[in-house]
Amino acid sequence: LATRIRTAIDDVDVKLAAIDGSIDVAVVSQPEKVAALYAAVKAVTDPLTGLGNRRALTNKMRLFLSRDGVERRAVGVLLLDLDYFKQINDLYGHLAGDAVLREVADRLIRAVPEQAIIGRWGGEEFILLFERITLADAKIVAERVRAALADKPVRFESLTIPISASIGVAINHTLDTHVIDTLLGAADTALYHAKHMGRNRVEIAGG
Ligand code: GH3
Ligand code: MG
Ligand code: MG
Repeated sequence: LATRIRTAIDDVDVKLAAIDGSIDVAVVSQPEKVAALYAAVKAVTDPLTGLGNRRALTNKMRLFLSRDGVERRAVGVLLLDLDYFKQINDLYGHLAGDAVLREVADRLIRAVPEQAIIGRWGGEEFILLFERITLADAKIVAERVRAALADKPVRFESLTIPISASIGVAINHTLDTHVIDTLLGAADTALYHAKHMGRNRVEIAGG
């Protein structure tokens, strides 16, 4: 759980700091502060998977891309979209689809390095966000994630559900941008190519 809500907690720290001027356990024991903490976590957490939500991811991207100098030129985005997910819902039911999304979240957590920010971008799309990553390392992580999903079907009740995902990778270093939409747009274009090339594969922006 600590790992899964890591993204969320970072944002809560900011919010509590704004409320109190500091983070303090004694302060948090007050009921209204507990409620504030709960609301703050909820605002940045995806309820189905426990991962950070789109807001959490956007906050992190904004933070990473706003850094000065060399550091900001190494932000990496892996945009992951499950393949034929509508068919999974249609064939196995919406509950099975939900179970797949949770299992995907768990596999992502296990497959990526500790410093990765993992979130659910929406629907059956996830984002892995890295600060200071090389293109070579981003490719390695993306391929590891792809394999972690495709190599083993998801088991749900009596069902065995094969899954795979397509991944678009973009690094702001190669794109020379610090604009979120430019970075995401490049990852999305790469993802589109991965889909077009047959799915269950990784494509690199501009590559
Ligand atoms: P592609 O390989 O091109 O990505 O095909 P796809 O079927 O994955 O893409 P499409 O966008 O057609 O379908 C996405 C589906 O994801 C449709 C929607 O019902 C389903 N979905 C979105 N959010 C959830 C959710 O929270 N739970 C479940 N079970 N399904 C969801
Ligand atoms: Mg999609
Ligand atoms: Mg899809």
